[in-house]
Amino acid sequence: MAKVLLIGWDAADWKVINKLIDKGLMPALEGLINHGCMGKLSTLEPPMSPILWTSIATGKLADKHGILGFIEPGPSGVRPTTSGSRKTKAIWNILTQLGYKTHVVGWWPSHPAEAVNGIMVSNFYHSSQNGTLQEGTVYPSNLSGLFEHLRVHPDEITEQHLLPFVPDGALVDQKNDRRLQTIARLLAEASSIQSAATWIMDHAEWDFMGVYFNAIDMFSHHFMCFHPPKMQQVSDSDYKLYNEVVTSAYRYHDMMLEAMLSRVDKDTTVILMSDHGFLSDHLRPAYLPDEPANPVIQHSEHGILVIKGPGIKKDELIYGASLLNITPTILSLFGQPSAKDMDGVPLIQIFEAPQISEMIDSWDLVDGEYSMRASSLPLTNEENQQALKQLVELGYIEDPGSDSEKAVQMAKNEANYHLARVYMSSNRHALAIPLLEELNNQMSDEGRFVTRLARCYMEMGSYTLAQSALELFEERASISCNKPGAKTKHYIYWLQQADVVKGDLLLMQGRAKEALLLFEKVQKINPKSVGMLLKLGNTTMDLGLYDKAHNYFMEVLTQNPESDQAYAGLAFIAIQGGSNEEAAGFALDAIGLNFNAPISHFYLAKALFGMKNYKNAAEALEVCLKMHPNFGLARNMLVEVYTFLGMDQKIAEHNNFFAKAKEDNYGQYQADILEHSVYYTKNLKLNNPMVVVSGLPRSGTSVMMQMLLNGGLPVFTDNLRVSDESNPRGYYEHEAVKSIASNNKWMTQAQGQAVKIIAQLLPYIPPRFSYRVIFMERTMDEVIASQHKMLVRGGKHRENFYPGGLDIIFRKQLQLTKKWIKEQPNIDVLYVNYEEVK
Ligand SMILES: [Zn+2]
Repeated sequence: MAKVLLIGWDAADWKVINKLIDKGLMPALEGLINHGCMGKLSTLEPPMSPILWTSIATGKLADKHGILGFIEPGPSGVRPTTSGSRKTKAIWNILTQLGYKTHVVGWWPSHPAEAVNGIMVSNFYHSSQNGTLQEGTVYPSNLSGLFEHLRVHPDEITEQHLLPFVPDGALVDQKNDRRLQTIARLLAEASSIQSAATWIMDHAEWDFMGVYFNAIDMFSHHFMCFHPPKMQQVSDSDYKLYNEVVTSAYRYHDMMLEAMLSRVDKDTTVILMSDHGFLSDHLRPAYLPDEPANPVIQHSEHGILVIKGPGIKKDELIYGASLLNITPTILSLFGQPSAKDMDGVPLIQIFEAPQISEMIDSWDLVDGEYSMRASSLPLTNEENQQALKQLVELGYIEDPGSDSEKAVQMAKNEANYHLARVYMSSNRHALAIPLLEELNNQMSDEGRFVTRLARCYMEMGSYTLAQSALELFEERASISCNKPGAKTKHYIYWLQQADVVKGDLLLMQGRAKEALLLFEKVQKINPKSVGMLLKLGNTTMDLGLYDKAHNYFMEVLTQNPESDQAYAGLAFIAIQGGSNEEAAGFALDAIGLNFNAPISHFYLAKALFGMKNYKNAAEALEVCLKMHPNFGLARNMLVEVYTFLGMDQKIAEHNNFFAKAKEDNYGQYQADILEHSVYYTKNLKLNNPMVVVSGLPRSGTSVMMQMLLNGGLPVFTDNLRVSDESNPRGYYEHEAVKSIASNNKWMTQAQGQAVKIIAQLLPYIPPRFSYRVIFMERTMDEVIASQHKMLVRGGKHRENFYPGGLDIIFRKQLQLTKKWIKEQPNIDVLYVNYEEVK
């Protein structure tokens, strides 16, 4: 029968581990890797441990599981987040319900312990080293005394234990430098978890054993700044004393792993994983903004994953895994179905003989004895204080102080902020907006709220709202910045971030040149910022400055050799230069580093297509579209590839997708799952695009058509509407355009020509073509006045009749059309002001 040992190492990172394994310093983990498969594990937003470990244990995002931060409102003030706040069954509830012997040690958050079919030791076990265990720490409670006894006290950690961490420990001035005590405490906490877990493995029957260690995260937050190479702001003496702490912590965990592995048989599947990584090299941030939970800026986006067991592939790399896959995969290991309400699916690629079982709707709907607590046990105030103190010390939360009302409000605000980030990361920007607006109203000089709010507006196509939110922030922040005692560095940091968002806003509006100026300004202040270098690379690429873009991407790779986005950029440039083989190589590099970016698969397909390798191009496109179904360019290309391959059924299948999408209404299109791919897509040289001139009637569309004609571009017109006083140079329209909503067959004839389609009709253009839209903008009053004048001339309006309310309707229509344009990957848009061309 299947057995599963799940070990969590918070913040464990491959970069640190790989170096240690190369030196033979983590033999237990090395053995595990050699006999199983390994990979990177994508983390989730926001990367905060209690939220992440609950997603790991439920297979669900935080809006479904309900754990939204480190603290939550309690009966008197705030308290550390409790297990009772989880809204859905965790893996241990499901396995308990199915009758498996289930044990859990130290999971965050799991206090008070739940009545599993086995033993549960909560996350309060190790965090309260003094006195007796708090009520609710151990289930069943009659084992409390035993587990209390198994704990390791920091006093039991001797010089011998500390020496490997700080060889020159004797030199530490212990009166003024408490860091040796910190190491002793973290070691004691990790050892307590180990001792509870191994006791259970030795003394109880088990089918599932989940053990969570937070020590690597804690060690990293306290000591990663001393890790080699030496950071500039670290003193020589501190560096000399503490540069081995992090590697020693990893080695200590390897020893604990070895002890656990010696207790499992060959029928047991072992899963070792982390919830995110931790920046360990020159990418470590030199500055942390002064705000709650700022330490998470040190986290990196990929954790580790190793799986070894019967029926699991050996010596294989796992691609594309995320935290959400863990619970569904454990269910598969037990031969149990996953559920449709989970956000993740089983990692079937790890099995030698994968068995795909039918999913059930939800494990929450399956009745049975599953032990979730209906409500949580209130903590005493003293217990609260102790647990909160640690979170404050780590910088994860602000000191709630003695004003409990204020503290509760603060906890609610943080929870809403985190929920907004969950929505943003899963493309539900509309749901994030009200939460962020509320926060931004309360704290209008807080950069973290307004920059995210502006991004949400942007995603919804409301560029003006985004722009004004950022401008208001700049005003407020500049005032706050000059107040006596202000956190100037903090404001400067966020003003820069606001500039970055403004640049992105310009990019989305097709104003890449202006965006470039802004990005260059920000980059001057942080010349080595990988994020800025990437933006510069993408923007110069957008402008067709491929040599510059190439240099930026190469610079990114010297800073961070694992930047998949830089490789994707290089792939694109190679495609533009006609070097398909080179492009395929770069795209494969990008995919190897991050499987989950659809754009890399698309570039691979483009390169393969160029090499006439249609079969593999089709495969790459299928992968791409699975991740990003609304990637129109990719689907167009796939139809083309299947045409070459003569696969009619596939062609029909994909064309049906378009037909269906049209029925579902384009406005419903979900935006991209990756922030950057919108830009990437727009950067592509569109395949024989149709030029569409659009805008409200009387906003300069005819003038633009004439300019294009003069520039040598054929225009699609039947010349039925002849020039008159209103448009002395002609209208350049085609009668067929008016009926585009019901009949668009004529579009094929318009390819390679310029067509005039007014803004209100634009959403009817069929998705099977690529378009370059020139969108004319003119002030609303002028548009309406000009339309009125024309209608008067044509005898359709009386001179003194003025239609009221039209401006509101037009504004709304424009807003909808612009939002729609933004969501179409096959449209490249350029907004042109009437004033510039008239
Ligand atoms: Zn973590």
